[in-house]
Amino acid sequence: MQQDAIIIGGGFAGLSAAYILGRARRHVTIIDSGTPRNRFAAHAHGVLGHDGKSGAAILAEARAQLSAYPTVTFLRGEADSAEGTLDDFDVRTDSGEVVATRRILLASGVEDRLPDIPGLQERWGQTALHCPYCHGYEIGGGPIGVIATQPMSAHQAAVVADWGDVTLFTNGMPEPDEATLDLLAQRSVRLQPGTVIAIDGAPDAPAQVRLANGTSVEVKALFIAPELHIRGTLAQDLGCALDDSPAGKIIATNAMKATTVAGVFAAGDNARAFGNITLSSADGVMAGLGVHQSLMFPVAHS
Ligand SMILES: Cc1cc2nc3c(=O)[nH]c(=O)nc-3n(C[C@H](O)[C@H](O)[C@H](O)COP(=O)(O)OP(=O)(O)OC[C@H]3O[C@@H](n4cnc5c(N)ncnc54)[C@H](O)[C@@H]3O)c2cc1C
Repeated sequence: MQQDAIIIGGGFAGLSAAYILGRARRHVTIIDSGTPRNRFAAHAHGVLGHDGKSGAAILAEARAQLSAYPTVTFLRGEADSAEGTLDDFDVRTDSGEVVATRRILLASGVEDRLPDIPGLQERWGQTALHCPYCHGYEIGGGPIGVIATQPMSAHQAAVVADWGDVTLFTNGMPEPDEATLDLLAQRSVRLQPGTVIAIDGAPDAPAQVRLANGTSVEVKALFIAPELHIRGTLAQDLGCALDDSPAGKIIATNAMKATTVAGVFAAGDNARAFGNITLSSADGVMAGLGVHQSLMFPVAHS
């Protein structure tokens, strides 16, 4: 049976959109491969009413609630390809199933690519973190490292200084300009030049940041800005335009989260410069409204 909408990605954005469409009694299938971006962290923070719960628990509760809506269907797996035009799309899954749909919502999130430093990936989400607003409080102060990956890392270090005593590992980045050095001094951020060659120690224990000159600096936790990449190629395959953001490419959308391709919407981290659970959920709500109203007024929102 043709669906009103297929949501690719059952994370925070996708499930938020599913509430809107399911409650509008629209037929919606959510295809989800079950690997949300925050799966590396044991707890999620700063989410209204859910502070400290695991991201997996929040999503499981949402799936259970959505299962009560008779027009909502879940398909576990990966959407491999999508093709078609407004009112007539086909989405194929990795198990070979093809689902026909009038609208597509890309809510498949982003992938964090970390620099290739031994010991870093294992710590991701535990003691190597992307966002102090999500996980800075739990560090409880003390020595914190920021590993530079881009010029904005100096600003990240200045911000993180509200959560502890910060060392900025420049890791081969050029010396910051005078204004940035002043800012770092005001924020009591220490600069540690040299190349970081490894992070030693157990992933849930303080990190020994090993430098090429043989010295090691111990910190309780590390912050790092990873490269963000839109997951998969479905947006590009469907012909959606991308925008540049400070964090990397994102899918271009209008206020109703419609992409540049009629009938295709995008929501969550893949369509915004800075994402968290609440912002992605809000985008999902907006996309749900956009999808729903486009089923009645296709020209207005596509
Ligand atoms: C380590 C870490 C910790 C974080 N902690 C917090 C926190 O404490 N608080 C907070 O507010 N934010 C936190 N975030 C940010 C938060 O995880 C993201 O902003 C949020 O998950 C984005 O939601 P989303 O729905 O856009 O994408 P995701 O949650 O990443 O969901 C995307 C879903 O799409 C699925 N998918 C991808 N491709 C396909 C495909 N082709 N077919 C089918 N399914 C597919 C994935 O399996 C996944 O389930 C954290 C991020 C990281 C990296």
